[in-house]
Amino acid sequence: MRLLVVEDEPELGRLLLANLARLGLSADLATDVATAADFVSAGGYDLVLLDQRLPDGNGLDLLRRLRAKRNETPVIVVSAADAVQDRVAGLHGGADDYIVKPFALDELVARIRAVLRRPGRALGVELALGNVRFNCVSCAVEIDARPVLLPRRELAALEALMRADGRVITRETLEDAIYAMNEERQSNVLESSVSRLRRRLAGEGATIEIRVVRGVGYRLVATTAAAAPDMAADP
Ligand code: CA
Repeated sequence: MRLLVVEDEPELGRLLLANLARLGLSADLATDVATAADFVSAGGYDLVLLDQRLPDGNGLDLLRRLRAKRNETPVIVVSAADAVQDRVAGLHGGADDYIVKPFALDELVARIRAVLRRPGRALGVELALGNVRFNCVSCAVEIDARPVLLPRRELAALEALMRADGRVITRETLEDAIYAMNEERQSNVLESSVSRLRRRLAGEGATIEIRVVRGVGYRLVATTAAAAPDMAADP
């Protein structure tokens, strides 16, 4: 397992390398787009952690160049907190995931593991858990190989939960996912969307279940059998 960290802030770069090494993940450091491009073309990386704002350009340009050359090395884009547009561009540009600065190391490691575990990996393919499949391009959902149409918010919540790949996702993250940008937020919309999604999944015989992690958020788990719809009420 070998990672490439592309980061121009020397302190953060060193910190990342040291901490990844501590976890048994060896990583190289590139501090600009040109060096990163050289390293990646030399090959052999299992994952690239890619900062966006680099001294000689934007990390996303490197990402686009890689994907154009059919290089499918998983990439996690590191976004500045104020750059929502960049984040969206990153995912459209072929990033497998993104993380927002400043981030906790635990969160980063969880993302790295999730990306490396993900079947097909790149966004633009199918996410699968239990008998539920989610196509990230078409937003088509299939449960037990049957197409299921979901309203926008439930669809967004399901995608966010499936992308988390079993990790807990915070209330705030899920809320970000179900609202369009600039949309006014209302209380209880998250709860009612999750509750409708949960009932729908149960009703369609899905072998996945949304669990509430008290005080934190939600996570998706695979169950051995479909939950009975009447067991699916909010806790
Ligand atoms: Ca930077």
